[in-house]
Amino acid sequence: MSDTQRTTPAGTPAGSSSHHAHRPPAEPALAYPARAVVDLAAIRDNVRALADHAPTAQVMAVVKADAYGHGLVASALGALAGGATWLGTAQPSEALALRAAGIAVDRARVLTWLYPPGAPLRALVEAEVDVSLAARWAVDEVVAAARAAGRTARVHLAVDTGLGRNGIMPADLPDVLAAVARAQAEGAVQVVGLWSHLAFADEPGHPSVVAQADVLDEAVRLAERAGVAPELRHLANSAATLTAPRTHYDLVRPGLAVWGMTPVPQLGPPSRYGLRPAMTLEARLATVKRVPGGHGVSYSHHYTTPQDTTLGVVPLGYGDGIPRHASGGGPAGAPGGPVLVGARPGDGGRVLRVAGRVCMDQLVLDLGPDAAERAGDVVTLFGAGDGVEHDGVPTAEDWARAAGTISYEITTRLGARVPREHVGTHVLDDGARALLAHDPSQQSTERTVRA
Ligand SMILES: *Cc1c(COP(=O)(O)O)cnc(C)c1O
Repeated sequence: MSDTQRTTPAGTPAGSSSHHAHRPPAEPALAYPARAVVDLAAIRDNVRALADHAPTAQVMAVVKADAYGHGLVASALGALAGGATWLGTAQPSEALALRAAGIAVDRARVLTWLYPPGAPLRALVEAEVDVSLAARWAVDEVVAAARAAGRTARVHLAVDTGLGRNGIMPADLPDVLAAVARAQAEGAVQVVGLWSHLAFADEPGHPSVVAQADVLDEAVRLAERAGVAPELRHLANSAATLTAPRTHYDLVRPGLAVWGMTPVPQLGPPSRYGLRPAMTLEARLATVKRVPGGHGVSYSHHYTTPQDTTLGVVPLGYGDGIPRHASGGGPAGAPGGPVLVGARPGDGGRVLRVAGRVCMDQLVLDLGPDAAERAGDVVTLFGAGDGVEHDGVPTAEDWARAAGTISYEITTRLGARVPREHVGTHVLDDGARALLAHDPSQQSTERTVRA
């Protein structure tokens, strides 16, 4: 079977190549043996829960990296349905994609914050995207873009309050503020925000959280004295939204929690914070076969069947973003990533661990000697639950633990060839549904909408 159709970039109509012209268009759900079902109702509910955690602040849903793998436009619309008034992206191209999809200022303010010199600032200003300023050169570039566009650029000053990443160092702030004040007097910029990002928000109670907020407050005072008082101050990511009210200010910027994962799993499962994972990753078993005991499984035989048993081949691998580090067995006997086989746990379902190495396109499960599964049966790698240790439903967090990473990476790295199917579209208003129906990325096999 050729994979060329699956690897078509999102946005290119599927089945348009002559190679496939003789075939009837495949049912999208069957065109690939796996899919990520993304529930917009869960996204809406998660944003509502986050708004309850930060009742005095507006919510900016951070939708960078294709909404952490959930699909940019559909997920953004789900978040807006939950009451988010802002969308945040790292890359300018993502912000422009939101506007190109028809998400205009009457639906959402959009902020983008990461770019080197030469970014498409004029296009951003014309698209009414708010732009972060993290360096002196960025002030000059945004002023030039605003003049060229004949409009006022809406800017947010990024301050490095202690993360040591992007942002203006406090020592450099007076110089930048002076330049911004001149630009404001000229009408080239409007200072909408002054903001920063936390280093230790996922360690609630860490003293640096309050210390960074104090530095932000001082930066705000400096800006006010320079005559460029910001309309909005913002600092909190998901973890701070959930655990540090001191950081809420006027706007919170959750990403991970919008998709129903918790950035503080050490404090409990998602439901503790009123969250539920929006993405369910499922696949249909390819081969199911009997093998004798002592049979080596997958590359290097890191797993050997302990008895006569049944193996099931799951057609997902690291080519789909399943981490090879979540392989099972091996010299250390590591538990592989968990897969739910059958119905829900307690309802005939059981959680199995990956047997042996995760390959590029597939991984193997030891279904056991009495397995009733057949080729084509659906298994779930992770879904809308609280985790193997809580309600028995594997989560991206469980996969992260098996792979030695964080849940962010599990959904964000899910491969482009895994189709996203957006459900729960009833939570969208008519206008949003129309935008989604016309989103070019939804026309491909990688993106479909189910009511
Ligand atoms: C990614 C990001 C966020 C969201 O972080 P989460 O931990 O996913 O909530 C907020 N602000 C900035 C600047 C980011 O880069």
